[in-house]
Amino acid sequence: MTARADFEPAYAPEDSRDASALIFPFIGQNLLIDSNAELPHTEAVQALGNPLRTLRFGALAGRECVLKVWPSECAIPAGLTVGDYRTLWGHWPDGLLTALVRAKQLAVWVLHNQFCGACGQPMVLSPVEIACTCPACGYKVYPRISPVAIGLIVKGNEILLARSPHFAPGMYSALAGFVEAGESAEECLCREMQEEAGIKIHNLRYFGSQSWPYPHSLMIGFIADYHSGELTAQKDEIEDLAWFRLDDLPVQPHPASLARQMIEFVRARTKP
Ligand SMILES: [Zn+2]
Repeated sequence: MTARADFEPAYAPEDSRDASALIFPFIGQNLLIDSNAELPHTEAVQALGNPLRTLRFGALAGRECVLKVWPSECAIPAGLTVGDYRTLWGHWPDGLLTALVRAKQLAVWVLHNQFCGACGQPMVLSPVEIACTCPACGYKVYPRISPVAIGLIVKGNEILLARSPHFAPGMYSALAGFVEAGESAEECLCREMQEEAGIKIHNLRYFGSQSWPYPHSLMIGFIADYHSGELTAQKDEIEDLAWFRLDDLPVQPHPASLARQMIEFVRARTKP
């Protein structure tokens, strides 16, 4: 999501006292939803007992949002099912999706930091800042964010798109890769284009960023120009890649995705 809509992030390691609070229940990394694909009522998750972690993480149109996380081995209560972020896109309003992105990333974070990585003792949620802290040695772990550089490369009235084996049939998107230690987002994109497509790029222009909860990525988008080199797909990660004319594009990613927003931006500003 590029707009926060009406969601305001916050943090407190406790439940809400407000009966109208929105509860985001997770078993492990999985959000539970009811048969209407909506957040369940509190009673629907009572069978799970006390959660592993409870925290307030913001407010949506004035209603407090509460994350409750149970261990991944818990059974899904009757009448509920696991909700997938991709299928909720287009079904839930933007504000609720923005809240879900934060809830999902925080669920993964608390699950993976139950014990101190330095001394092995149980961690607790800090009362003053969004951190898992170790009472024994003071080690702190903040929610993990993994930056990913994503680039739409332009050559005249064509753009470079690629598909991974796990994409929906026929869908192509912009190339992306994780930023490595010691690397800037721009350096990452240049390296990824060289490794995955065999080309050099230049004139990088920052476009925007988007939080992406798989499981804790921050997509950093650039539009850039082709410089030189022959297109060569990296066999392991890329099933196919090609230059596509802007007036003859394949199946594209979801309209809310950063990749699609970049494609629409370039298409609106390029003469056929
Ligand atoms: Zn410790």
